[in-house]
Amino acid sequence: MSRRVLQSVRTFSPLTIILIISFIISVPILIYSSEPDVNVGLLNSYQATDTHRDSVFNKETGCNDIEQYLQQEGYIRQNATILMLTRNHEIDDVISSLDSIESHFNQWFQYPYTFLNDVPFEDEFEEKIREHTDAKIEFGVLESEEWEFPEPNEEKGQDMSKNNATSTFIDDVIRLQGDRGILYGNMKSYHQMCRFYSGKFYHNKLVKQYDWYWRLEPDIDFFCDLTYDPFYEMMKHKKRYGFTIMIPELYWTIPNLFRVTMGYIQEKNITLGTLWNIFTTDYHVVNNDVNDTRDDLYHEVDSDTVYLDKYINEAFYAKKVVKDRLLIDQFVREGYGINENEPDYHGPDNIIGLKKLIKRAQEPPPIVVDKFNNLEYNLCHFWSNFEIAHMSIYNDPTYDQYFEYLEKQEGFWKERWGDAPVHSLGLSLLLDVEDVHYFRDIGYRHDTLQHCPKNHKKFLETPYQSKKHIRKHVKYDDPYEYGTGCRCKCPRGKRGETEDHHSFCINKWFDITHRDSTGRDAVFNLTKLNIEMAQEIDKERFLKL
Ligand code: GDP
Ligand code: MN
Repeated sequence: MSRRVLQSVRTFSPLTIILIISFIISVPILIYSSEPDVNVGLLNSYQATDTHRDSVFNKETGCNDIEQYLQQEGYIRQNATILMLTRNHEIDDVISSLDSIESHFNQWFQYPYTFLNDVPFEDEFEEKIREHTDAKIEFGVLESEEWEFPEPNEEKGQDMSKNNATSTFIDDVIRLQGDRGILYGNMKSYHQMCRFYSGKFYHNKLVKQYDWYWRLEPDIDFFCDLTYDPFYEMMKHKKRYGFTIMIPELYWTIPNLFRVTMGYIQEKNITLGTLWNIFTTDYHVVNNDVNDTRDDLYHEVDSDTVYLDKYINEAFYAKKVVKDRLLIDQFVREGYGINENEPDYHGPDNIIGLKKLIKRAQEPPPIVVDKFNNLEYNLCHFWSNFEIAHMSIYNDPTYDQYFEYLEKQEGFWKERWGDAPVHSLGLSLLLDVEDVHYFRDIGYRHDTLQHCPKNHKKFLETPYQSKKHIRKHVKYDDPYEYGTGCRCKCPRGKRGETEDHHSFCINKWFDITHRDSTGRDAVFNLTKLNIEMAQEIDKERFLKL
């Protein structure tokens, strides 16, 4: 899916790019202001990010002695599988993923694998897989209902025996998406894969034997050892969904997904989880405290929250917008008094006000294509090619019926709705932030994106215990005070760290997990803002009040 990301850099709308840049610049500064171990100004990956809402499971030791871990009191092996949908021709990349997860984790824990395919696996494929693991393996072929799209709404009731209209119609619509340049838009199988992982996989007869799954893909690398059982730790810490990378989706793959999601929420009258706040941009950020008399000063701005809501997406952005607005208002009211000796000359801010006014007059208003009830999907999602999750979240009627609702809207072929945004939005209907775990200590690469943690400061105390996989390299990365990884060896140079370079979405996660209370506590307090703005704009005039 990272190809999507690369494309996304090229195809994002200017608004999105502006948002991303503002986030990259502003959010890291805001995130850690309330935490004690603050290193403001450092890149995310150098910071301690644990909070009471979510922290790495292996915080104390970094690495565990496997035997001791497995024998600890209370440890219960979980009913879990490592799941991969794949094709026969991907065998080399499948083996490379398998070797990676075996050497870093599963040689010790022996969780069973489930391999699925829309056509039968070849004998050679199955034999090769068996050579690379001692764990139990099941191979499955998807039912046609799991892979094929249901009959299109347009065709229902028509006599389909006369021609092949159904497949022609779907194929045509998909082909057109390729013509419009939507990444993978013209690949029917890609649409089918996304639909399968969005709503079908948890009903699959092999998969539904399990309570938990870990999704694996061909062509991935793990960079650190995982010396604990992630399923058990998630159970113990009441976590239900785990991720390692968060990124934004390409807008044009899902133009109607959020509208449809909002429709579902309204129809079912759903009470949203707090996770919702990570994926949506709420334009209702200005909180007017009408009882505060100081607000009278800024009556014009306060009374015009419609204006502000239109322009402000996040609390940190409000300051700039209100400042511009006040400067413009000041200019309109008082002019800019070219002659310094004139009594209404108020200094150079007035000239800035004029400039702001001209700039605003030149710019088109912000294009907000997909805003419903003043909410917008910010395109962020957990990158779903890696996920560790409990089946109950998908089997929950809120999620399962969400998928059915989406299916009826036919967006899996009329558009190219990805399983990642569907999972993220679907889960945010029922999960709270605390239900989700960031596996910050799992080093992971797929395609061109990677996350690789710094090593835990105590990681050298526990040596690698080889069961089957002989480790060739011995030079691990140096430990770091806030490191979380166990025996990580991160590749240098090529890709960069997603926490730092694609930080727009993971910053949303850090931001929300660091808040004092759950829910929409990003609501911006305009009264406080006014005081700050006043001080900045015109010290003399406002401070005396
Ligand atoms: P990307 O990561 O978004 O580029 O998507 P991939 O092409 O890697 O597909 C995601 C997963 O679905 C991988 O595990 C693929 O092997 C699998 N997959 C994709 N298309 C098909 C298909 O047509 N048939 C089968 N059996 N698996 C597929
Ligand atoms: Mn992939």
